[in-house]
Amino acid sequence: MNTPRQSVHEAPGSADVVVVGGGGAGLAAALSAAERGVHTLVLEKRLELGGTTRFSVGSICAANTRLQRRAGIADNADDFRADMDGFIPEYVARDNPRLRFVLAAEAGITVDWLEDLGVVFAGPFPEPPNRVPRMHNIIPGSRMVVAKLARAAQRAGVKMLLDAAAEDLLLDRAGRVIGVRYARQGQTCEIKARRAVILASGDFAGNRAMREAFLAPAPAASIAVNPHNTGDGHELARRVGAGWRNMDVVLGPQYRFPRASAGGFIDKLPEWPWLARLGAYYFEHAPSWLLRPVVTSLLIAHMSPSEKLFEAGAVLVDLDGQRLGVEKSGVSLALAREASGYIVLDESVAQRFKRYPNYISTAPGIAYAYFPDYERGRPDLVHRACSVQALAQRLGMAVERLRAATAGLGSGMLYALGPVRAMLTITEGSVMVDASCRVLRDDATPVEGLYAAGGTGQGGMTLRGHGLHLAWALTSGRIAGEAAARATPADVSAAAAARGENRAAAIAAALAPAPAHAG
Ligand SMILES: Cc1cc2nc3c(=O)[nH]c(=O)nc-3n(C[C@H](O)[C@H](O)[C@H](O)COP(=O)(O)OP(=O)(O)OC[C@H]3O[C@@H](n4cnc5c(N)ncnc54)[C@H](O)[C@@H]3O)c2cc1C
Repeated sequence: MNTPRQSVHEAPGSADVVVVGGGGAGLAAALSAAERGVHTLVLEKRLELGGTTRFSVGSICAANTRLQRRAGIADNADDFRADMDGFIPEYVARDNPRLRFVLAAEAGITVDWLEDLGVVFAGPFPEPPNRVPRMHNIIPGSRMVVAKLARAAQRAGVKMLLDAAAEDLLLDRAGRVIGVRYARQGQTCEIKARRAVILASGDFAGNRAMREAFLAPAPAASIAVNPHNTGDGHELARRVGAGWRNMDVVLGPQYRFPRASAGGFIDKLPEWPWLARLGAYYFEHAPSWLLRPVVTSLLIAHMSPSEKLFEAGAVLVDLDGQRLGVEKSGVSLALAREASGYIVLDESVAQRFKRYPNYISTAPGIAYAYFPDYERGRPDLVHRACSVQALAQRLGMAVERLRAATAGLGSGMLYALGPVRAMLTITEGSVMVDASCRVLRDDATPVEGLYAAGGTGQGGMTLRGHGLHLAWALTSGRIAGEAAARATPADVSAAAAARGENRAAAIAAALAPAPAHAG
């Protein structure tokens, strides 16, 4: 599936709305702003759109969607909001209940909006402790949502500059944000934003210094799934006075296998709606033997091995063959050399993990992957040897250490799955925002002209539970884009202030429909 790669656009000097980051939140924001007729530009520091959103599975939890209604499921925002607390009992007291309600009330509208753009979902599937099925899975995966948003944004006239890294915000004398300074092809450039700047540069999992400053030693030492999300938006917002919330909160690290170097066939599928609909039908109705080739193809992603492997007797060792403790939080692996190791198992465990309920990994709501799926789909992760000595030699480990680590395993064939890494999927700490995604200072006053969405603008919410991060990224992007498109233009605001006029009059003038622009 091809995400539209942008040709190098002639960089314009200004736009109504400038979006920093071309991932899920940034693309949703850009489309939402452009749908309201304002000139919109996206700055993306990579050569490709998509960010972490492209790596994600594609599960979105939402209430009150058309898909739920079609399936006869009655749902509402109050129940959804209440159920979310069940995922984070330890964080409820420091969460952001107002934003959580926005998410509960608006995520369903986002799913319907995406459906209207041609995104196809399977589900909704159950995801306890949600009381009704709320998990909507993008078919064939998140790359589809990136592609659909990017194309729709382009059609609506959004300009996208790749290889353009935002480095600073431009302010007027009153401290309002009026543009962005960015680096592109070795040059420093500036773009003015007449109405607003939206920060959508993801989280800070890829910034080692920030991890060490805010997180516990294990998550700080872990490997980021997306090393390019370096908290740039957090820093830009901070420089103009924004508050940060819950910077110490992180879910993980988690045990994850590295991505395959070559994509599977799912990556190459064209994004024809009929094909996606067929795919959705296939996921929901096909017998499990028919799903096996798809499961194998999904294994290219950063899959998480099931902890049931350890309960069944498999052991975790570091790169030198030393046995490590197995904890939910992956602490010992994170603190080991290269935050990496192997899962070693004997033939009896390998046999048990050939069928349900003993799966090695799962894509939520889609399918389970068993040992033979890994042997077929990810042979690079499966190492087989007839003795401890042979396995140690193969993996470059100390024989005696590995022998001690595997003393409890059965005799015969040995397997090592890996490398497995302690990885940070995402960090939760973010810039403070209000219900319209306006960036707030510590005293809760807004920074004029500045909005934040997605991982940058999570506003203190802890989004544990499958499908809430994407739900927020796309929903907050949609909300921020709409609010930014309606923001009072900087020149109207400044002129009114210079004339000493009532600010409300300037705002009323600014809310008049913006003129549609050509392409
Ligand atoms: C393996 C994996 C699976 C996941 N699966 C799910 C799932 O199924 N459901 C779910 O809800 N969540 C999932 N998540 C989490 C979810 O993907 C993220 O929370 C979400 O995609 C974040 O979106 P975003 O737009 O905020 O950030 P991103 O998608 O990362 O976009 C940020 C963009 O900003 C760009 N950028 C950064 N700095 C700058 C700068 N200075 N200038 C210009 N551009 C910049 C980046 O290059 C990037 O393109 C998963 C995450 C991972 C890693």
